[in-house]
Amino acid sequence: MGLVSSSTVYLSRSAISHNIALFRKLIGPKSKFTAVVKSNAYGHGLIETATMALGAGADLLAVNSVEEAKRLRVAFPKTIILIMGSIPSLETVASSLSDENFWILVSRIEELEILSKLSPTPKLHLKVNTGMSRLGISYEDAELVAKEIFAKKLPLNGIATHFASTEDFTEHSHSMLQLERFQKVIHQFEKHGFIDLVCHCASSASAMLFAEARMDLVRVGISLYGLWPSLETKLSLSLMKKEVGSLKPALTWKTKIQHIQELPQGSFVGYGSTYKTTHPTKLAVVPVGYYEGLNRKLSNSGYMLVAGERAKILGRICMNMTMLDITNIPETKIGDDVIIIGKSGEETVTADDHATWTGTINYEVVTKILDSFPRVIVD
Ligand SMILES: *Cc1c(COP(=O)(O)O)cnc(C)c1O
Repeated sequence: MGLVSSSTVYLSRSAISHNIALFRKLIGPKSKFTAVVKSNAYGHGLIETATMALGAGADLLAVNSVEEAKRLRVAFPKTIILIMGSIPSLETVASSLSDENFWILVSRIEELEILSKLSPTPKLHLKVNTGMSRLGISYEDAELVAKEIFAKKLPLNGIATHFASTEDFTEHSHSMLQLERFQKVIHQFEKHGFIDLVCHCASSASAMLFAEARMDLVRVGISLYGLWPSLETKLSLSLMKKEVGSLKPALTWKTKIQHIQELPQGSFVGYGSTYKTTHPTKLAVVPVGYYEGLNRKLSNSGYMLVAGERAKILGRICMNMTMLDITNIPETKIGDDVIIIGKSGEETVTADDHATWTGTINYEVVTKILDSFPRVIVD
């Protein structure tokens, strides 16, 4: 597999199982585990990841869009799928959402009205803005909204919010304020007759850090894939003297050497001639560039792994190609494996390394890997 494609993404089933088991132990039996597989499962592959997550005991799947929900529905006819993003042209697409195992997050009463007309009716969850200011009704309007939903006899099955900055700090007063606001909103809804609502707010970081945030289900994305939401999340856990265990990254991104050449000292490499060899250099070309998902900020920085050794990136990242210095890896031949993210011998390149090198977060690094590459499940 993967020989015809310019690169391949390998997925470790045992890593996904390990990460889910870790959360299971943490959240206990009362909270359900939602595998967040939006955005092609953070670049890991939608159907492949959902298959592994369900196999490892995930209770439900969560996505951003209707299109992703429909693709999952074809593969998994009965699985509960939570649609978290706002749905453009809801009136036009509503008929395709008539599925009692779709759980849909809505932000407005009009959306509840449209979706409640469907039969079978999807489960409807109201999103509340408690301090993120993205989607949802304002927590301050909860009382009024609860009254209106009750008066209009609209169905409501759940209520949710999302934390804004749990990942960013080791000081969690904003998250605690959001949690308090959310708990108050839940009480207001209960007071108005909504007693069986499915309540949820935690993503990876908040599920790890705050026991009170786990509620009826946790929505775990980044850590399902074995990546930490941030360094601050790790630090917070250690400051709070909590032990979660180690996450196992599930993804390996591999390509192959496509071309090799020997360059004399003083040769320029790549667009803009930004690199000039300082010694006779053996150079390898790999068929992966910024189109395939490598950040162009990796030009002249960072490295890939060849036969357990680091091969520095030379010159600018091209659209579909990258040049590597393999001078000190003399046995290398055309067709040899190159690890872009993953392990080779004793060496490892992580999504976090790429994030550090390019000034972004691991979430962006993995979601950028081209969707059309094959995803291959191993172990
Ligand atoms: C993406 C997303 C999550 C998952 O967040 P992670 O930090 O990746 O665990 C949870 N909830 C909502 C609403 C999301 O959009």
